[in-house]
Amino acid sequence: MTKKNNFKLKGIGAAPGITIARAYLFNKEVESVSDLEIDNIEEAKENLEFAISKSKKELKKVFSLAVDKLGEKRAAIFEAQIMILDDQILLDTINNRIEKERKSPEYIVNDEISKYQDLMNASHTQYMRERSQDIEDIKNRIIRNLKKKKWQSRITEDVIVISQSITPADTLLFSRANVKGYVTDFGGLTSHAAIVARSLNVPAVVGVHDASSSIHSGDIIIVDGFHGEVVINPSEEQLQHYESKISKLSKFDAELTKLKEEPAVTIDGREIKIMANLDISDEIDQIISRGAEGIGLVRTEQLFDEYDQYPDEEEQFAFYSQLSENFYPETVVIRAFDIGGDKVLPVDVKEPNPFLGWRGIRFLLDNQKLFKTQIRAVLRASEHMNIDFMIPMVTSIAEIRKSKTLITECENELLAEGIKYNKNMSIGIMIEVPSAAVLTKEFAAEVDFISIGTNDLIQYLLAVDRGNEIVSALYQEFHPAVVRTLRFIINDAKSEKVGVSICGEMAADPLAVPLLIGLGLKSISVSASAVPLIKRLIRSMKYEDVKLLAEECLQLVTENEIKSKLNKYFEENLKQDSKETYSR
Ligand code: PEP
Ligand code: MG
Repeated sequence: MTKKNNFKLKGIGAAPGITIARAYLFNKEVESVSDLEIDNIEEAKENLEFAISKSKKELKKVFSLAVDKLGEKRAAIFEAQIMILDDQILLDTINNRIEKERKSPEYIVNDEISKYQDLMNASHTQYMRERSQDIEDIKNRIIRNLKKKKWQSRITEDVIVISQSITPADTLLFSRANVKGYVTDFGGLTSHAAIVARSLNVPAVVGVHDASSSIHSGDIIIVDGFHGEVVINPSEEQLQHYESKISKLSKFDAELTKLKEEPAVTIDGREIKIMANLDISDEIDQIISRGAEGIGLVRTEQLFDEYDQYPDEEEQFAFYSQLSENFYPETVVIRAFDIGGDKVLPVDVKEPNPFLGWRGIRFLLDNQKLFKTQIRAVLRASEHMNIDFMIPMVTSIAEIRKSKTLITECENELLAEGIKYNKNMSIGIMIEVPSAAVLTKEFAAEVDFISIGTNDLIQYLLAVDRGNEIVSALYQEFHPAVVRTLRFIINDAKSEKVGVSICGEMAADPLAVPLLIGLGLKSISVSASAVPLIKRLIRSMKYEDVKLLAEECLQLVTENEIKSKLNKYFEENLKQDSKETYSR
């Protein structure tokens, strides 16, 4: 592979921001091995002993760093790797084979450890398949040390992670290290890994196709998460250009911070409530400092992603209570575990179409023990009266009623146990499946509030996988069917006098905000980092204007027409700052 200079790759801007750092190829540095016969067996065995002890030393260093940066739980991954190096049976097997087969230790190590990996890769559990990557890491580490190559620590420098794909757990793991950006070959805008990157404020470009094959570790990379561009080994001119953009952005950010105490109100006085989505516990401070009015969506399945199993009632109760206290008197909307889809199921099943499978409320109603544990924890934490509970992936009234029956059962249990809870805790649902949208009125009559989940609503309405970059151009927020469905949901919810909000990523798209406000939404929930910008936009628009704008959009029949109309409105009314600061 020849080294390429100052060329650009195009992908999807998944998390805004611009960053410049060296590339780190995640899981890609595979060491080659040869199967030639060796003459000095003793030397080979000594070399193996040296490589194992060196690998152990490296891993111990990584482990202590990891404990600092990731905490005990996540650091355990490295501890487990150290244990493999202590596995006497494995070491004896390798030594015996070196003697018998007269092959290099690199070759035997590769062969033996690959056997473990094959077993793991054949597993039905995604968890096991993902763990096979850890084994790959160990294998490469030993082989690298056998070849006496230098170790480049993966978590001590500022790097941009380049990878074929990345899981939400990877994103989290790297966030505690010095990761300044992400570039992946696969993935879409609303994949959960992209959402986590946005939450963490780390610029990301996904769906770049050939990023991991054309970028080398150590290349200087510019990630432009606004425009979905990646510049490799930039020229001096390009560097200056982006450095000046970064400094403009940080000034703009400082200006936005001043809006923290100001209300989100349009020029003509319509007040909008801006809440934040919470994906990881680290975000709590950010949500407070960015001036959000409470939390509109707690992705509980994401919060507990780092646990080996879902936490028990006490652990959940402690966490939900902490949220309730931190944000009191503002509301915290806790969503029931939305397990499934691209979020790993805690059980060993392999589904052909996970997004159409055992997900959200479907999984919870089939796993009532898990569901009831969460309901009890939420109810107990609701004592301060500022917790709402929300159910994901609802497609039928039966699911709402069954959930309510379980909530009542839990209330009765708590009552019998003499434990306090809010007897009027609001219960809401997400509208994120077309059947729920069609039945908004009927569903709304059953609950206290609804929240529109556009990430899923768009994928199910348009039959476009939200995480698949091949069809990402078809994933259209401004498809006329999406706009009209939003209008339908908002109107029907209002006619039932039920609060309606939106917590999908569309609400954080500056181009979409005038449309959403114009369609009648008075409450939105976005990632914490987007709160100040969205507030500034709302403060620059007139409700009367955007109402008209929405009416006009509802008449249009193509995505392009709607997009151009919104762009035109943006140019004419909201461009007090450069458009690129706003655009995704
Ligand atoms: C949505 O679908 O819009 C949503 C907010 O839920 P999630 O992204 O967690 O599926
Ligand atoms: Mg959803």
